[in-house]
Amino acid sequence: MDRRCRFCADEFDETFVDLGLSPLANSFVPRERADTTEPVYPLHARACRACGLVQLPQFEPAASIFDQYLYDSSYSESWLRHCESYAAAMIARAKLGATSEVIEIRQQ
Ligand SMILES: [Zn+2]
Repeated sequence: MDRRCRFCADEFDETFVDLGLSPLANSFVPRERADTTEPVYPLHARACRACGLVQLPQFEPAASIFDQYLYDSSYSESWLRHCESYAAAMIARAKLGATSEVIEIRQQ
């Protein structure tokens, strides 16, 4: 298992929190697979001492996580209110205007 930090490439091994084994979050088990054992994965978050990034050394590819994913953020009123409030706060803090560009950086 690769224990190189995905941000700074330093080796890391410090436990941040070990929650044992867990199924994928918000995964949907269809009726035809209801009597099978749901796969579980280690949920052992570790911290990089060099840069502070907390990360899972082992993780599933996005296609596995989102293939049968139940949660849709647009259905959660409280989440939408939080996002609106957070966006307004960040716009004010960064003094963003009509010509500003905002990007989202995600790992695929
Ligand atoms: Zn790091």
